[in-house]
Amino acid sequence: MHSLELKNITKSYDKQNLVLDNLSLSVVAGDFIVIVGPSGCGKSTLLKIISGLEDVNDGEIVIGEKVMNDVDAKDRKVSMVFQNYALYPHMTIFDNLSFSLKLKKVRKTQIKDEVLSVAKLLDIQDILERKPKSISGGQKQRVALGRAIINNPDIMLLDEPLSNLDAQLRISLRSELKKLHSELKTTMLYVTHDQIEAMTLGNKVAVIDKGILQQFDRPMELYMNPKNMFVAGFIGSPPMNFIKMNDSLIGMLREKDSKINPDILNRENSEISIGIRPESLSLANSDSAIKFDATLELIEPIGSEVNYHLRYLGKLITMTSKINSFDPINDESVSVFAEPSDLYYFNNVSGEIIERS
Ligand code: ADP
Ligand code: MG
Repeated sequence: MHSLELKNITKSYDKQNLVLDNLSLSVVAGDFIVIVGPSGCGKSTLLKIISGLEDVNDGEIVIGEKVMNDVDAKDRKVSMVFQNYALYPHMTIFDNLSFSLKLKKVRKTQIKDEVLSVAKLLDIQDILERKPKSISGGQKQRVALGRAIINNPDIMLLDEPLSNLDAQLRISLRSELKKLHSELKTTMLYVTHDQIEAMTLGNKVAVIDKGILQQFDRPMELYMNPKNMFVAGFIGSPPMNFIKMNDSLIGMLREKDSKINPDILNRENSEISIGIRPESLSLANSDSAIKFDATLELIEPIGSEVNYHLRYLGKLITMTSKINSFDPINDESVSVFAEPSDLYYFNNVSGEIIERS
């Protein structure tokens, strides 16, 4: 297990559009890091740079103590698992697993021992003589993991490895991956566009948008203390509501929130957006709550929770509540409430959060 340091990585494929923009990331040895962001934000490119499949325009890749920029991919001790498994179709699972050891001229008896030990770890002992086309998607992904593990890499990179699997299997493989990591203790970087995967898998999560690192923090920290509107909107489901400040809201806040940051009161309304998580909105009023007069568009009971889709000043907002407090709203007009302490404030122009007082 090795640490990984990315220092000011800049990458463009065409010398015009930056795919990664001055990205720095410091990964402690043995950590399980998730890199999350929308499609096209540069996640796969970042993994390719770490593994040596792509070079950088600027910046440094350090694994352990060693600068890797000029080290060949094959000499980096970094292994990669892909979404599409990339197994050799004409080889048995045993041969797929042992391929890299054979290339390294490891002795036959040792190869057998290592394949069996990895197969046992991943519970694929029974399919070693089969070919990839005759095993399930989940088994294929286990074989792909096995192939990465068998090289005993310093760093393991996983590029959306569960995206091709159905929801049920994704959940069970998620917990297996966590277990695997705690047994192997290899430094792992796991790429996904799925914020639920990011929240559940990572010790720490790097959120990237447009090639720029937005925030690198523990999962709950991203949820509780997002640094900007992108992170606030990306982490959390349903996403945070953003509402442009208006005279009625600022009036209520002046009156009810004695602790409000003066910076918020002093700015033009148009410069500020309020962020409210759907779970912070409620039908229950209180002395301190501020009120949003809305109209009801749609009620969606989704098992343990209910989503209310409301329109406030022309914009759709979402409120969620537990099913046990499910309140069938019969009227089209509805007032919903939020406690000032649950609100976030963002600078509309920069997207940055305005510190709370
Ligand atoms: P992600 O994995 O987050 O979806 P990628 O790293 O694959 O994103 O791609 C980031 C951006 O770089 C995209 O705009 C993509 O079109 C571009 N890109 C990726 N690979 C290449 C390449 N080999 N040549 C040119 N552009 C590329
Ligand atoms: Mg990708």
